[in-house]
Amino acid sequence: MKLKKGIYEFIKWPQRELTIHFPIKMDNGDIKIFTGFRVQHNSARGPCKGGIRYHPHVTLDEVRALATWMTWKCAVVNIPFGGAKGGIICNPKEMSINEIEKLTRRFTTEISIIIGPEKDIPAPDVYTNPQIMAWMMDTYSMIKGYSVPAVVTGKPTCCGGSLGRLEATGRGCMIIVREALKYLKIQQKDVKVVVQGFGNVGSIIAKLLNDQGCKVIAVSDSKGGIFNPDGLDVGKLIGHKNKTNTVLGFSGAKKEISNEDLLELECDVLIPSALENQITKVNAHKVKAKILAEAANGPVTYDADRVLDKNGVFLVPDILANAGGVTVSYFEWVQSLQEFFWSEDEVNSNLEKIMINSFQDVINKAKEEKTNMRIGAYLIAVSKVADAIMQRGIFP
Ligand code: NAD
Repeated sequence: MKLKKGIYEFIKWPQRELTIHFPIKMDNGDIKIFTGFRVQHNSARGPCKGGIRYHPHVTLDEVRALATWMTWKCAVVNIPFGGAKGGIICNPKEMSINEIEKLTRRFTTEISIIIGPEKDIPAPDVYTNPQIMAWMMDTYSMIKGYSVPAVVTGKPTCCGGSLGRLEATGRGCMIIVREALKYLKIQQKDVKVVVQGFGNVGSIIAKLLNDQGCKVIAVSDSKGGIFNPDGLDVGKLIGHKNKTNTVLGFSGAKKEISNEDLLELECDVLIPSALENQITKVNAHKVKAKILAEAANGPVTYDADRVLDKNGVFLVPDILANAGGVTVSYFEWVQSLQEFFWSEDEVNSNLEKIMINSFQDVINKAKEEKTNMRIGAYLIAVSKVADAIMQRGIFP
């Protein structure tokens, strides 16, 4: 890209990182100290934007990577945001609702010095949800003394959330898979799909692809996976997961499988929708899918990426495949700022246009530069951010 060395160095690093250690009084009266992070990677194209993750394995480095991907993602789909991400080292599965609320409110207070509708707008990520966003919005509003709905996205619709936001990441990824199938001239009907992770993103992708005639033959969550070569009834499976908190034990499955085996199944489309680093140099050569859509952030390591590319797997990178979430977050932010709300059809059709155009832009770039989809997406994203930095100039 012939980037200036200084620009290259600048975008390699986050602009701002905040680490907080804070106390929470637990239900049993003990005081426990938690550590959380908010990292803003780059704000050249607009306010920073990115989710908040609650997970025992959160690290500052992981949050940096996630924040950086947000910068490129917003640039690929051309929405006017920079990238940020946050996280708290905790295990929400072992905490009460009361403890999670206190954790959220204290963390929000601590990061309130750097977030805001015109500065940095959090959203849900792994093990955070609309309820947690409502608590964040309420806490920030209490500090300000008035309601500030545009400070977070992914809120419940009763307090300024957007219709279609909850499904947006899954819907965006479904559109991308559909476009990839069309591009590769593969008939959508009865296409075999495997989804790793059955949370907000994975369950919606599975449901929407199932509704369109694809056969979802295997899914998994943190406890393990299930398989049925004739296809799973995803609607019923979502009911089962809501009731039991796991996909295991679903009566429509033929057998249970491990998360490792699931990634190596014979299928047309593989959609990792859980966490980073799932496909590595150890298992990449065993992936049999024709299309791999990265619904999760960073599910394929650098080494694995080269193996998949060599083996002709059509990989749609995370910064495009899961950009539906931040796109509808942008719509939610606009609606919250204007206090004027759109219909679900309006949200979904605007999302569809952006996803299809962005897919086409990346295909065109990849063809023009004789490269793959990941490099194509990065060429678009990095040049947009670099252009914004250069046009704004280096201050002072
Ligand atoms: P979630 O908490 O709703 O779901 C995560 C799912 O992954 C759960 O089903 C969990 O059981 C499963 N899981 C956890 N560890 C696993 C493992 N080792 N193997 C298999 N499954 C495992 O989270 P989400 O919001 O669906 O996020 C999933 C991924 O999508 C993350 O990488 C996230 O960064 C990315 N993402 C989310 C959004 C969004 O809008 N929520 C947007 C863009 C990208």
